[in-house]
Amino acid sequence: MATMKAAVCTARETISIEEVPVPEPKADEVLVAVKVTGLCGSDVDGYTGHHPMIQWPIILGHECSGVVAQLGPGVTGWQEGDEVVVEPFFNCKKCPACLAGKYNLCVDLKITGHQVNGSLAEYVIADPFFLHPKPANLPWAEAAIAEPVSGSLHAVERANPRLGDFVVLLGCGTIGVLAMQHCLNKGAEVLVSEPEAFKRDVATQLGAHHTLDPTAEDLEATVQELTGGIGADVVVEACGLPQTLGATVGLARRGGTILLIGWSGNTTDPFDLTSVTLDELTVLGTLGFAWDHKTALKLMSMGKVQVAPIISHRMPLERVEEGIKMLHEHAPGVWKIAITDEA
Ligand SMILES: [Zn+2]
Ligand SMILES: [Zn+2]
Repeated sequence: MATMKAAVCTARETISIEEVPVPEPKADEVLVAVKVTGLCGSDVDGYTGHHPMIQWPIILGHECSGVVAQLGPGVTGWQEGDEVVVEPFFNCKKCPACLAGKYNLCVDLKITGHQVNGSLAEYVIADPFFLHPKPANLPWAEAAIAEPVSGSLHAVERANPRLGDFVVLLGCGTIGVLAMQHCLNKGAEVLVSEPEAFKRDVATQLGAHHTLDPTAEDLEATVQELTGGIGADVVVEACGLPQTLGATVGLARRGGTILLIGWSGNTTDPFDLTSVTLDELTVLGTLGFAWDHKTALKLMSMGKVQVAPIISHRMPLERVEEGIKMLHEHAPGVWKIAITDEA
């Protein structure tokens, strides 16, 4: 039986590089030879045992570009050698959410690297419905990052900031800086609150109108000043920390919108529900994406969303655990890590 190299998370904070069988694509599945996998905060949560969907042993990884290697029985529309981006979902295609097109809310949604083995390996299984052609002008590493571009796009489309709206973005991690670009593309004025200076600098280079260090400056006072005492039209939370989740309410204008992309893992967090009611706020959650990858890839291909500036590190599969630890420890200068055997 053919084998492949895989980074298997076998237990809490334990990853071993193993030779495992190459998975055999079943009907309605495709085997993809992985080119690049982007490491994500949810890989860290899976590694540390803090992700509700992830149990060991598992191969983590879901931000993936690669080449179609083998079609399962009956699969049409793809050929071996096709260069693709994997949308890391498997859905039932028959529940009410799937039938309504909201497949991210499928009652039996499975996510690559969460409930099924992921792409931190030489090969990964994908649903052919969720493969997308890699735009020719996108390098493999950037193409792999279409996943968070898609997730942030799905989120920002829910809040739908309008031309000229004032948006406050809490946290400039990968999702934050991508959500920022979507808000800028929609014509919003954007303030980014982020403690790390190098991320603020890139945010400014990418067009952020205002940046602020929340550990040194008063965010709420700054927002009041910049909006003439009104508050932000849209507040985007992209940290998932209890204090930033709680801070959103005080930043939004009356009738404004709060978009919660981050989540703390707690069932309760401090959040002023009285103001939500009396200021008639709209509070939105978001999960993954549905029909967003094609737009995300188009925006990346057009240069309307840039991911190259946030790829801070590249390392081979053998060093996955080191990369996950760097993310977990918030090592200085770490943003998006691309796992790839190519230089
Ligand atoms: Zn991710
Ligand atoms: Zn379903």
